[in-house]
Amino acid sequence: MSARVVLLGPPGAGKGTQAAKIKEKRNIAHISTGDILRDSVKRKTEIGLAAKSYMDSGRLVPDDLMIGMIRSRMVQGDIAAGGFILDGFPRTTVQAEALDRLLEDMSLCLDAALFLEISDDEVVRRLTNRRVCPSCGAIYNVIVRPTKAEGICDACGGSVIQRDDDKEQVIRNRLMVYRERTSPLIDYYEKRGLLYRVDGAKSSDTAVRLLESIGVM
Ligand code: AMP
Repeated sequence: MSARVVLLGPPGAGKGTQAAKIKEKRNIAHISTGDILRDSVKRKTEIGLAAKSYMDSGRLVPDDLMIGMIRSRMVQGDIAAGGFILDGFPRTTVQAEALDRLLEDMSLCLDAALFLEISDDEVVRRLTNRRVCPSCGAIYNVIVRPTKAEGICDACGGSVIQRDDDKEQVIRNRLMVYRERTSPLIDYYEKRGLLYRVDGAKSSDTAVRLLESIGVM
């Protein structure tokens, strides 16, 4: 069964963790624009070079660049066949409208937009404690989900790091950007009857359970 899902919510709400759980259950493509961008920065591609300064300061990468990136990923064969979980896209109304047009061109429709709700204080607490593995994308938390061996990824043995944009000042900026540019999407999807609210402070499989309960997976 395929599922076509958008994950919404502030940075640190657990979009990546919930997406990984959904993927574990059903092998649906997990498209994280943040991961694609970080990989592009690492490989110093044209997109990576253009995006880096925005990412470092917690600002949004321009819409045209993001829409082009998502378009080239979405037209790959696995998406129409097996569905997708979009994690980190759309982040503006312009991006949401572009996604609607793209899906229409592909004769696909969205099943659900899951909004992971969480307080600012919890976001700051989580993100300052978050550690990630740049090699395989695994996500840890030094307090609640530490690696078995300090600094070493349980999944692939790579070195686990703190993202540059998980420093407190940048987090505060990302939250402000989220409120101004991304939170209007809650209304956008609510009006289309696609919005489902999930408690982001709860366990990492609340999204899976919600999708199962509405018959999406
Ligand atoms: P994330 O890992 O989703 O928190 O994304 C990290 C950073 O990548 C964000 O703070 C933005 O600078 C950039 N980014 C990711 N997705 C988008 C998007 N859809 N639109 C604009 N910028 C994005």
